[in-house]
Amino acid sequence: MDIRIGNGYDVHALAEGLPMWLCGVRIESATGFVAHSDGDVAIHALCDALLGALALGDIGHLFPDTDPAWKGIDSKILLSKVMDRVRAGGWRVGNVDVTIALQRPKLAPRIAEMRATLAPILGVGADAVSVKATTTERLGFVGRSEGCEVWATVLLLKD
Ligand code: MG
Repeated sequence: MDIRIGNGYDVHALAEGLPMWLCGVRIESATGFVAHSDGDVAIHALCDALLGALALGDIGHLFPDTDPAWKGIDSKILLSKVMDRVRAGGWRVGNVDVTIALQRPKLAPRIAEMRATLAPILGVGADAVSVKATTTERLGFVGRSEGCEVWATVLLLKD
């Protein structure tokens, strides 16, 4: 069996009155993400991890923010398109692990929904999709609620 590992990282700025999407789930919040797409910074990091595992570049290369086709797009569609690339190479997801750094709101009540949303797109059970959330103890740009930072790791398998 062949295995590949990939990591992804993304940051989006927060601003008042914009929607907040994380792992495909709409989060109730007074602030949301500044972005060309729907701003789902967690899915963007996950896409970069998948692309990174296969050395296929990055999400900005695949879906440039200068292209009006991607304006306001649901990031779940971007993830599906990235998964098409993964499957085209004969790969499948083993597991993914996502860490979201956000000062507020608290994400713990929505984690199960996030895992259940991502799992079918990734073609795995929710038990293979880890989503973790942390604050940064009010330190740095995350702690000042100026933005959100996400790290994602994926394992890909080919039988
Ligand atoms: Mg992004």
